[in-house]
Amino acid sequence: MTDRAQIDDLVAANRILYDQGVVDAFGHVSARQEGDATRFLLARSMAPGLVTADDIIQFDFDGDALDPSGRTLYVERFIHSEIYKAHPEIKAIVHSHSPSIIPFGVTSVPLRPIYHMSSFLGAGVPIFEIREAGGAATDMLIRNPELGAALARKIGVSAVVLLRGHGNVVVGASVQQVVFRAIYTEINAKLQAEALRLGGGEVNFLNADEAAKATSTNNAVLGRPWDLWKQQALARH
Ligand code: MN
Repeated sequence: MTDRAQIDDLVAANRILYDQGVVDAFGHVSARQEGDATRFLLARSMAPGLVTADDIIQFDFDGDALDPSGRTLYVERFIHSEIYKAHPEIKAIVHSHSPSIIPFGVTSVPLRPIYHMSSFLGAGVPIFEIREAGGAATDMLIRNPELGAALARKIGVSAVVLLRGHGNVVVGASVQQVVFRAIYTEINAKLQAEALRLGGGEVNFLNADEAAKATSTNNAVLGRPWDLWKQQALARH
């Protein structure tokens, strides 16, 4: 059996990510199941802003739904199944086409932590090139376990990986943390692009020590933005 509180958190995460402009009609968020580390929870294939508790389905590491009941599944569910299989410490995952990060996946400008809220980017932001794992004629989607496994290898210890010409994947140790990271990754990309447009020489990013310390500070207050974002999202949609 799945925990109702965990399902409610995942529903809130779907609504928040839509309300904050990280996902639109596309993108998804999952959580490793509490009490069974070999399962994860993910909505059926639908717009995240419309997800309710009844839409949440249990999956295994093959990306198979335990009880699909005829429901359509996200084509890219293998992002989640393969990352959970390869990285036991990861408890929650967001995949989005978060618009401001797209330029950083297709140019040589690395996404880096421009302020303390996005300090988790200090662990590095690799770019997943689907042509390396899937050849030059894919539809860009992570639509099978092999592509998911290649993506899972690319993440390493990073919190965020960019998918060239597609979007990004954000991972975390909890649903609250992964939502925080997905939102501040989008904001960081906007701010970094703005700093680059200003010109005036090199951008002064957080160094490794600053990034590590700010991350531990932020991890202690994840409940504050979560409560705000959740109330706003559930009131508006
Ligand atoms: Mn996608």
